[in-house]
Amino acid sequence: KKIVITIDGYSSCGKSTLARQLARQLNYVYIDSGAMYRAITLYFIYNRVQWELPEAVAEALSNIELEFVPNEQTGFSEMHLNGENVEHQIREMLVADKVSDVAAIGAVREFAVAQQQKMGAQKGIIMDGRDIGTTVFPHAELKIFMTADTAVRVERRFKELYAKNPQITIQEVKENLERRDYIDTNREISPLRKAEDAIILDNSNLTMDEQLDLAIQWVDDILLV
Ligand code: C5P
Repeated sequence: KKIVITIDGYSSCGKSTLARQLARQLNYVYIDSGAMYRAITLYFIYNRVQWELPEAVAEALSNIELEFVPNEQTGFSEMHLNGENVEHQIREMLVADKVSDVAAIGAVREFAVAQQQKMGAQKGIIMDGRDIGTTVFPHAELKIFMTADTAVRVERRFKELYAKNPQITIQEVKENLERRDYIDTNREISPLRKAEDAIILDNSNLTMDEQLDLAIQWVDDILLV
């Protein structure tokens, strides 16, 4: 038997790292919902879409096709936007700066959530994001809500970004994280919230293996019932 697992939480608290490990261990499909919002944002930036105008947003969305394509080497999916692999571009600061504003637009969320729910028709998936346990899969069997201290999150994110761009500063990373968390928790539509039935996982002081063991235990507990 396979289930649906949701992982929600603040920016950079290690959701995707845990989701990937868990997917590998359980032989599940991992879906990064944030990548969809990032790809939409990339399209809006490239095409100078005036996203304060509803007609401009509707027109742009009608021209966007998103697809997760598995990378043969890593085994994980990469985001393709209208046939182009944009996995690298969507991780850049240019996109990180704007993505929470774009993700707060109702039409954008409807567009993304509809596709996410379709992917969940099959069991055996792990999806991470901000509203997966509350809005996308309110009936998921296992919901995890991840948190970590801000300082820990900033340091992790900084290390990731610094490897690609040594110009980046800690302050920039911290401001971006705090701004995204603020917009994500305060937007009107599907704000970032812990689902009532979600289990909290604070990984500030946990190793990857410890987190993985906990999560596997939770899955086993559910499968036993
Ligand atoms: O997870 P990641 O940091 O890549 O997500 C980028 C942004 O996309 C988040 O800061 C949030 O604004 C938005 N997002 C969202 N709902 C999701 C996933 C991501 O609003 N389910």
